Amino acid sequence: MNRRLVAPAALILASALAIQTPGAISGPAGARDAQIAQAVEALRSKLVEQRRDFHMHPELSNREERTSRIVAERLRALGLDEVKTGIGKYGVVALLKGSRPGPVVAVRADMDALPIQEVNDVPYKSQNPGVKHACGHDVHTTVQLGVAEVLSKMRDQISGTVKFIFQPAEEGAPVGEEGGAELMIKEGVLENPRPSAIFGLHTSSSDAGQIEYHSGPAMASADRFAITIRGKKAHGAQPQGGIDAVVVAAECVTALQTIHSRRINPLEPLVITVGTIKGGDRFNIIAGEVKMEGTMRTLNEEVRSLAKKLMHDTLAGVTSAYGATFELEFDSPNPVTYNDPRLVDETLPTIRRIVGAASVFSPKPFMPAEDFSHYQKVIPGFYYFLGVGNKAKGLTPAWHTADFDVDEESLVVGVKVMTNVLLDYLDRHATNK
Ligand SMILES: [Zn+2]
Repeated sequence: MNRRLVAPAALILASALAIQTPGAISGPAGARDAQIAQAVEALRSKLVEQRRDFHMHPELSNREERTSRIVAERLRALGLDEVKTGIGKYGVVALLKGSRPGPVVAVRADMDALPIQEVNDVPYKSQNPGVKHACGHDVHTTVQLGVAEVLSKMRDQISGTVKFIFQPAEEGAPVGEEGGAELMIKEGVLENPRPSAIFGLHTSSSDAGQIEYHSGPAMASADRFAITIRGKKAHGAQPQGGIDAVVVAAECVTALQTIHSRRINPLEPLVITVGTIKGGDRFNIIAGEVKMEGTMRTLNEEVRSLAKKLMHDTLAGVTSAYGATFELEFDSPNPVTYNDPRLVDETLPTIRRIVGAASVFSPKPFMPAEDFSHYQKVIPGFYYFLGVGNKAKGLTPAWHTADFDVDEESLVVGVKVMTNVLLDYLDRHATNK
């Protein structure tokens, strides 16, 4: 992906030094920034080592046994207050209680990898054939462990409690299994104690040192659908005796494309993709049944429900014209990843302070989906993007590709930003300031 101009190196350097430049906070908060920066720098080699270990041992969704075990061991070693395992299968949840009173804030990292064969010839190449961290979840888990480590030594400066959520199966549980954010919520991850906000981050192809964010919709909803068209078999040369499911299906595919072009406000993004189509038995038999699968994506929950209704109406209209019948089923739903605008507004100054205003961008939303959206249905959340690319080194990582890799400098940036985001959130919302 190449979504915008590259920030000049001088700007990145300036942003790296932002805490020492005029305009940065001075006094106690400035001192705390410096303390965090120093603590994270001291973790640099440990972060790289940890990320490489996760990268070498990737595990598929709902199979994150090793990753989850290491996470829990590390959190226990850091002396966190509660470390619970087995939430939503391999999920781990830990609390870190500060010595000052204040609210509860949650932070979430996902841990699963993808069924992709690694092609990079690197010392930390995946040791698990056919499985690879090709979406940067190794970075997410490593950064969050780093945040836990830094904060575990700063309890006296924490106003409230941080809830660390390490989540399995973001990429989707295997067919027939539950998993991911939805299952963790069902098993109580957002209760006892209930956080008042949640933060998370995802890798992006922008350069290390840069942060991207969206206020409002950030990533699309995703609804997988399955359509069955039922007609009536007949001899291929005697169509008048049958109902041709192939012809009806072909019209359905075309008609579905007119939902966005003719039925929805053109300023609203909507994708309806029919990804598979299978039917018929033989070249000279009129097909009795066709099955299709696809995905529907939007950035607006109203458009999402309207599109579902229009898909149903369209299929009903087309099939009835030919005397065919249909079934339409939706599953694996992910809502729109919606960043609470107030939470974004209040958090941006922190992000700009840490990486420098010139390194913070707001691109257009992305159409891939993210199951962080389920937490945001329950409490306000902010999901931002951590640049992990390095165009100078030829690293422009594209999600879900066999050569995905990251500039490990992003680990340090990720820990610094999230540590400050959480502490500042708690400070702002502490009751007895
Ligand atoms: Zn991902």
